[in-house]
Amino acid sequence: MTLLLPALQSPAGPAASREAVRFGDLSLTYGRLAGAADALAARIADAGRVAVWATPTPETVIAVVAALRAGVPAVPLNPRTGERELAHILADSEPTAVLAGADDALPPALAELRRVTVDARAAGAPAPDTAVGAPPAGEDPESPALIVYTSGTTGPPKGAVLPRRAVAASLDALEDAWGWTGDDVLVHALPLFHVHGLILGVLGPLRRGGSVRHLGRFSPEGVARELASGGTMLFGVPTMYHRLAEALDAPADGSGHGSPAAGGGSPAGVGRDALAGALAGARLLVSGSAALPVHDHERIAAATGRRVIERYGMTETLMNTGIRADGAPRPGTVGPPLAGVELRLAEEDGTVLGEPGAIGEIQVRGPNLFTGYLNRPDATAAAHTADGWFRTGDVGTVDEDGYVAIVGRKATDLIKSGGYKIGAGEIENVLLAHPGVREAAVTGEEDPDLGERVVAWVVAADPGSPPAAEELADHVAAQLAPHKRPRTVRYLDALPRNDLGKIMKRSLGAG
Ligand code: ATP
Ligand code: MG
Repeated sequence: MTLLLPALQSPAGPAASREAVRFGDLSLTYGRLAGAADALAARIADAGRVAVWATPTPETVIAVVAALRAGVPAVPLNPRTGERELAHILADSEPTAVLAGADDALPPALAELRRVTVDARAAGAPAPDTAVGAPPAGEDPESPALIVYTSGTTGPPKGAVLPRRAVAASLDALEDAWGWTGDDVLVHALPLFHVHGLILGVLGPLRRGGSVRHLGRFSPEGVARELASGGTMLFGVPTMYHRLAEALDAPADGSGHGSPAAGGGSPAGVGRDALAGALAGARLLVSGSAALPVHDHERIAAATGRRVIERYGMTETLMNTGIRADGAPRPGTVGPPLAGVELRLAEEDGTVLGEPGAIGEIQVRGPNLFTGYLNRPDATAAAHTADGWFRTGDVGTVDEDGYVAIVGRKATDLIKSGGYKIGAGEIENVLLAHPGVREAAVTGEEDPDLGERVVAWVVAADPGSPPAAEELADHVAAQLAPHKRPRTVRYLDALPRNDLGKIMKRSLGAG
């Protein structure tokens, strides 16, 4: 087993002066990061498990690297988590200390824990020689590196225990798919408490010896600036690509629709051409965490000539599939299984589906998988088949070329209506292509005749004159099939979304 973060294990030599992470005006080289993490690792060596107050700061990076160095499992906490959920996570994960920045105001739920202060500005010392060659703590491949809580989209978050082996395997599969090297500079604007932002977005570049530039807060102008000044890759969630698509659509004079920050001519905004040029110049634009609407994919492709590539993963499995850098991106698909990942589709009764085009639950197996849910042997067992495959709870199809398309979640996105199985995502994509629609979600609701009825939740592009329900229903029926026509259309000011921009369909009565 190679080390999880080799560039940080022996940061002497040329790598020591390479930039590892940059947040605003604070930059840490590999040498400084290793030095800071080592000093912190010594302070937490006796902790059984540590919580990390995961703000988008260099302190969070130092804390996580220190925990990995010390061989102490880290539990990243979302600083915006409500008291109830936070109490659940703390009671479940039982950390003995919390790592936080000096200025962080911690909620009462954390008051009882030993607080260990992390200060990136004090991380002045380059890697002390003592660190180099020191035996790596906790490098047993099966030892838990992180306990990451799922997003809680379908129920209370569950703690996924992620061994070093899974983290390393998944990052290496992405290296293979994307030709990811130490020369890559990742432009990052995601939170640091989930797999996407922390494992892919921070540990990914650090494992390769590359750099991360974190924007703090996402903005099209920040993305344009960083991609135009050395950034090679952008990782984002669909809501970010939606905002980029809006900014690219904005009229050049800065008036009219589009997000205000993206106005082409406004001094605070970014020029549409500059943004298009910056995106076109990136080596990779990657989307994940939720489905990228086809409409946004097409708008970005039209404006930049570049296709956003999608990858599909989850907390429990890390990455399962992805479009390769040298592959053919197809809107609405998440690519073939990554190296080392086995993927199959199965029916409710366990029948494995073989024929192209069949719809079934996606099940996976491979070195990228978690070891189980913390304290939940029942849930862990229920999530696996008798022959050892992980049930993702997602429904999908696989075409002749092995490309996977996600239909949606079994619980909330598969509507059984009038004898048909209907995927919510397909209808959402068609609704989003209607000029009068800004956001759309589709759910199923109990219906005495149909079993379930297709319901569309719509945020109008112009709230003053929303498109008529009949018009939207006809639009869907004309593009897809009559049985996919929404029977009910409900208008909202905004869709309920979590921190990663995922639509919380439970709040819409689904699942
Ligand atoms: P919980 O498990 O607590 O209900 P969650 O499933 O949203 O929450 P995550 O592990 O963060 O928690 O998210 C994984 C899920 O995100 C996947 O199961 C899938 O439904 C969705 N997802 C991830 N990437 C994609 C993608 N590219 N396209 C469509 N869906 C995706
Ligand atoms: Mg899940």
